[in-house]
Amino acid sequence: MPNPVEPQALAERPLDELVACHECDLLMSKPTLRTDEKAHCPRCGYELFAHRHNVVNRSLALVLTALLLYVPANFLPIMQLHLLGQSSDDTVWSGVVGLYNAGMQSVALVVFLCSMAIPLLKLLCQLAVLLSIRLGVGRSHGLFFYRIYHHLRDWGMLEVYLMGVLVAIVKLADMAELSLGLGIVCFISLLLVQVWLEVVMSPHQIWAALSGEDVHAGD
Ligand SMILES: [Zn+2]
Repeated sequence: MPNPVEPQALAERPLDELVACHECDLLMSKPTLRTDEKAHCPRCGYELFAHRHNVVNRSLALVLTALLLYVPANFLPIMQLHLLGQSSDDTVWSGVVGLYNAGMQSVALVVFLCSMAIPLLKLLCQLAVLLSIRLGVGRSHGLFFYRIYHHLRDWGMLEVYLMGVLVAIVKLADMAELSLGLGIVCFISLLLVQVWLEVVMSPHQIWAALSGEDVHAGD
C-alpha cells in the first residue's frame, strides 16, 4: 500500500514519484508494483492502479475481437417484430435511419454518435495506441490517440442503448410477437469485451509505455 507524503517533504520529491488518489485526492509516494499486484489508496480504498501481465498483447486481442463484433452488432437484426401480419428486422443502423426518416434528425444523430460512431472511434484509438507500443513506432501519435480515447470514454454509451433495447422488448412483448436476433448476442458480447478491455488495458502501464518508460507492458 502506498505511503501518504508529508506536506514538508513534497517540495523535495520529483513529481513522477508521486501519485494522487482519483477519489479523495490524497497525495502518496508512487509504489513499485510487481506483475498482478494492485495499489489501493490507504485513505479511501480506491484502486489506484494494477500492474497486469502481457497488457499489450491481451489488449490487442480484445480490441480486434471487439472490432470483429462491431459489424454484426450494428448491422444484424437485434430483434424481429411480427405485428398484424407484417414483420420487420430491427438493427441499430435501421433504428438510426428510422429516427431520421421520422423527422427526429437530432435524436438520430445522438443515437448514431453514442451507439455507433464514438464506440468505433474509441476502438480505433485503442488499436492505434496498442500498435504504436507493440511495434515501437509513432509513440507521439500514440499519446495523441490515447488522449482522444480518454476524452471519448464518457460518450460511447452502448450500455444505455442496450437498456433502451431491453425496455422496448419488455414493452412490445405484450403488443406484438417478438423474437431476438443474432445482433443482440453480438451487441452484448461487444459490450462485455469492451468492459474486459477496460480492465486489462491498465492506464498507468499504457501511459508509461507511451512515455518510453520500461514498465514491462509487453511481458
Ligand atoms: Zn483515496
